[in-house]
Amino acid sequence: MWKVPLFDLNYDHQEQDAVVKVLQSRWLSSGSKTLEFEDAFARYLGGGVQCCAMTNCTAALHTALLLADIKPGDEVVLPGLTFVADLNVVVMMGATPVLADAESIQDWNISPADIKKKITHRTKALIAVHFAGFPCEMDELRELCREHEITLIEDVAHAVGGSYKGEKCGTLGDIGCFSFFSNKNLSVGEGGMFVCRDKELAEKAKLFRSHGMTSMTIDRHQGKSLSYDVRMPGFNYRIDEIRSALGLVQLRKLDNGNAKRAEIAAHYRSELKELKKVSIPWQNPQPYSISSFHIFPILLEPEVNRQEFMEFLKNRGVQTSIHYPFFGEFTGYSLGEQQGIPICQDISARCVTLPLFPTMTKGQTEKVIESVQEFFSEGKS
Ligand SMILES: *Cc1c(COP(=O)(O)O)cnc(C)c1O
Repeated sequence: MWKVPLFDLNYDHQEQDAVVKVLQSRWLSSGSKTLEFEDAFARYLGGGVQCCAMTNCTAALHTALLLADIKPGDEVVLPGLTFVADLNVVVMMGATPVLADAESIQDWNISPADIKKKITHRTKALIAVHFAGFPCEMDELRELCREHEITLIEDVAHAVGGSYKGEKCGTLGDIGCFSFFSNKNLSVGEGGMFVCRDKELAEKAKLFRSHGMTSMTIDRHQGKSLSYDVRMPGFNYRIDEIRSALGLVQLRKLDNGNAKRAEIAAHYRSELKELKKVSIPWQNPQPYSISSFHIFPILLEPEVNRQEFMEFLKNRGVQTSIHYPFFGEFTGYSLGEQQGIPICQDISARCVTLPLFPTMTKGQTEKVIESVQEFFSEGKS
């Protein structure tokens, strides 16, 4: 249907072969591939971090909040502009979400100055999202969290492979939560990773991931244990072997894929910068920050009709999206204006995400650029 979809998988025979091998092994649930994936991911991140693969990023975020000992009534600060998973997990824990505004319409990441205003004696954790793959100002966030004794959780769903001052995103706070959902930079369908430096915390995450049990089905299958103890209550947040095997292949492709994304983003930027009614965030990123270029969001001038713009591109076979709708407008929530996040609200109303994925052809990139240029040259506003 689309000439240029928003995203397409960077998959080939390697992923197929990896899946077939797992099927031939006759072991599907968490086992040796999962351990291999965790080890490879830990080596990729560097710095001796602990990795615990999970069913998805939301499960990792839930685990992070539990291990940060978030209790009903505690406050968790999070960005006003992010995927709803961050908001949902906080609310499902019985904690109070406190939304902090974006830094500016140039830098859509959470504003340290606004966080400072919103921290109270009840604040227990901060969730930082590296939006679109651009790392947050982690030195400032770490300092704030240290000062107020707050757990710093990185939501790294957008920023796998990104880095800040030479350190990989996801290793900069107390806990990092990755997503390997289909449309993320490392795709397995449904998958995630809980990352931390603290060995004891990682052990707890592993217990929590598997009903608090001290042994796994694979251990009993291999005759390593006959029974198990339950050390704490837990859930089933285990990833399986097929997804772990896909993760291993995708991890090998990650850096090249991100480099391709960077090239396409640079092409977009140079071709779209002349348009008066379009602005592109992160024009001058810090030299010490390396983005993973997860998505390519643009901001339309207020007088441009976003619906018309998106329809116009759709009619040319170009898929676009909105990252993200404003939390204040969700019918299941009554957050919003009272939270004082005017910049997030403004961005939500005017942002559009253009297609970006590593296998995008030059022709596809040009198709998007031409369609955008055409919209504005037809004098639409
Ligand atoms: C995708 C995403 C999530 C959720 O990840 P899942 O693996 O689907 O649970 C959380 N936060 C952000 C910012 C995301 O983009």
